[in-house]
Amino acid sequence: MSPVLPSLLDPWRAVDKGAVFAGRLPLSGLPRLRGLLLDAAGDVGFRLAFSRDEAGRGVLRCEVVATLRLSCQRCLEALEHRVETDTWLALVSGVDEERRLPERYDPLPVGDEPIRPGDLVEDELLLALPQIPMHEPVVCGRYVADVNAVPRGSAGASPFAVLAESVSGDG
Ligand SMILES: [Zn+2]
Repeated sequence: MSPVLPSLLDPWRAVDKGAVFAGRLPLSGLPRLRGLLLDAAGDVGFRLAFSRDEAGRGVLRCEVVATLRLSCQRCLEALEHRVETDTWLALVSGVDEERRLPERYDPLPVGDEPIRPGDLVEDELLLALPQIPMHEPVVCGRYVADVNAVPRGSAGASPFAVLAESVSGDG
């Protein structure tokens, strides 16, 4: 296991070697993510493990763990967003291959060029960002209960009743 993540990597060679990289990267070193954070202090723990699956595919298990500091869009105060991902990527070299992938894999398009493994870690974090970061209502300084947001139908009502209602709708 290598504690250092190379900046460039031949993915197929890594698959053949069964290479595993684990360590930490500073969040401040991730340019696409950095601008979306309230502050880029701290780091991200990662583990990238290349292997072949039972069908002979080149695959990569990508795990990342980080706590990101975002800005709550309701009260604008700091919000800590915990990210823990465990994603299986399959190396693909074309669209056909990508279409045939089993559902458990996300495609990782690769050509003859080396890949940047740091980008994969950053991608995981970007994908894990909430669209609109907001505190949980009980802790947010600006939360005001919205009576209109309370679902119609009291607790215990049949979900089918709600469904029937929406089907008959306004028409
Ligand atoms: Zn808030």
